[in-house]
Amino acid sequence: MILLGFDIEEFDLPMEHGKTLSIADQLTISTKGTLSILAMLKAANIKATFYCTAKYAICQPHIIKKIVSEGHEIASHGYYHSHFIPEHLAQSKKILENLSGNNVFGYRMARMMPVDESEIKRAGYLYNSSINPTWLPGRYNNWRKSRIWFFDRSVLQLPVSVSPLIRFPLFWLSFHHLPMFVIKWLSILTYRKDGYLNLYFHPWEFEDLNYPEKYGLPSYIVKNSGEKFIKRITNYIEWGKSKGYNFAKSIDFAQSVISD
Ligand SMILES: [Zn+2]
Repeated sequence: MILLGFDIEEFDLPMEHGKTLSIADQLTISTKGTLSILAMLKAANIKATFYCTAKYAICQPHIIKKIVSEGHEIASHGYYHSHFIPEHLAQSKKILENLSGNNVFGYRMARMMPVDESEIKRAGYLYNSSINPTWLPGRYNNWRKSRIWFFDRSVLQLPVSVSPLIRFPLFWLSFHHLPMFVIKWLSILTYRKDGYLNLYFHPWEFEDLNYPEKYGLPSYIVKNSGEKFIKRITNYIEWGKSKGYNFAKSIDFAQSVISD
C-alpha cells in the first residue's frame, strides 16, 4: 500500500519567516489546495487520509464534509497548528468526529514534534503518524527510531517513509526538489524493503507560494509549488498505479497490521 496523507492546517509557515498572514488567508490557501487535492484523487479514483487541525475544521466544516463524502479518512493534526497542550488530543478528536460524522482513529503532531505516547493512548487513538525517522538539522534527530511501523504503549506507530540505509526522507520537500525518476527509484527501494510507503504533503504546497512579499518563504520551499506540484503528484500517482501499488487510507493499513 501507498498511504498518502495531507496535513490540513492554518497556513502558519509565513510567520516562521517573519510575515503576518490573517487567519482568513491562512485558511483560504489550505482550502484551495485541498480542493485541488480532492479533484486529483477523484480523477485517479484513489482514497487518502486528511490530518486536520480542529481549528481548520471548525472554520471550514463544509470541506470536512466534502472530504468524508468522497470516501477519504479524517485524522487529527491537533487543535491548533501552533499551540499544543495534551488536552488538545482528545478535544480535537471529538470535534473532528462531530464535524465529520465518522470515528477518528489517527493522529499526527504538528511539525512532527515529539508527543507523549501515553497521552495519545489515553485520548483513544489507534495509530500515530508523528515520526520522521531521520535527522533534520534544526528540527529533530530520529535516526535511532524505527523506520517502519511498530507499537508503543499499544498505539500503532506509522513513521513517514525514509529510504533504507541512508534514511533519505521521502517527505514533501523531496517531492519539490528531486527529479521524479529519483523519487520513483527511492520509492521502489523503500517499498521493496518495507512493504508500504507512508507519504505526507500539505494542501498549501498545491498553491503557488512564489509571493515573497506576502509569504516570505525561501526558494527551497516555493520551488515547484502550485500547478507544478499538482502535475508532479498526479504523475506520481499514475506511475504508482501503473506499477500495481495500491493507494489506501492510513486506517486501512493500520487495521491490516492490527488484525494480523
Ligand atoms: Zn502541519
